[in-house]
Amino acid sequence: MTELKDLNTCVNSNWCPGCGNFGVWTALRQAIVDLKLDPKNVVLASGIGCSSQINQWTKTYGFQSLHGRVLPAATGIRLANTDLKVVVVGGDGDGYGIGMGHFIHAMRRNLDLTYIVTDNQVYGLTQGQTSPTSLKGYKSKSTPFGVIEEPANPLELAISAGATYIARGFAGDLPHLTKLIEEGMSHKGFALIDVLQPCITFNKINTFQYFRDRCYKLEDSAHDFSDKCAALTRASEKWDEKIPTGLFYRREKPTYEDGEDVIRDKALVKQELGNISINRVYKRFM
Ligand code: SF4
Repeated sequence: MTELKDLNTCVNSNWCPGCGNFGVWTALRQAIVDLKLDPKNVVLASGIGCSSQINQWTKTYGFQSLHGRVLPAATGIRLANTDLKVVVVGGDGDGYGIGMGHFIHAMRRNLDLTYIVTDNQVYGLTQGQTSPTSLKGYKSKSTPFGVIEEPANPLELAISAGATYIARGFAGDLPHLTKLIEEGMSHKGFALIDVLQPCITFNKINTFQYFRDRCYKLEDSAHDFSDKCAALTRASEKWDEKIPTGLFYRREKPTYEDGEDVIRDKALVKQELGNISINRVYKRFM
């Protein structure tokens, strides 16, 4: 049986001591243990950024893509071998900035992927520039007079675009975050878990204390996660005083994989390709 320590590689993380990414890493490894997944059937796919290095110190299979391009890569991994549990990890700059187009399209397809976004409202790896989720007025090296735009709202986008499990966790609440990641990984379809992950080095506004003072759990507030309008209302709450965490929305819906005859019954990599006539395949598309 896999234990937490079995999921560590010989590579030590290079995250800043106290970074919120450590909480995400612990919750993710705990979810793999609790779900009794065999690590060799798990793939951690990532883009570029501090959190995207997670697969270097986690003993599963891993794939690191170009900046913002992890979702197409994860789609390919998933369609090639539907027996794998594919978990995508990346930051807000990677996923909601450079990768925003891929984010929308992966959700509308309802691919069976779990996407954990470590959302620290800043580009950490490149020294603290403003990201798409930086709050209005936020000052950084790239916006010394403060951000003048409204931040992107990934949960509103996910609810509208077609993701079928949408949650927000906090890197400072490990039992709750672990539960959300476990649910997301068990869900059949596209699961988004947006994680409030303080960057203690560059973001001096959205700190652990900032989130501890504001976060409340939807489970404690009679929220109906099957109600799309209620989910949108919760997702649009401003962060002035309170920030909702937990499950916003969940629904059952056929996945992209369900619609593909070729892989519905057997993973592509396990099929005998020798019996397939390539000319017959070509003719279907002519
Ligand atoms: Fe974490 Fe920020 Fe350091 Fe990156 S720069 S490792 S996000 S604290």
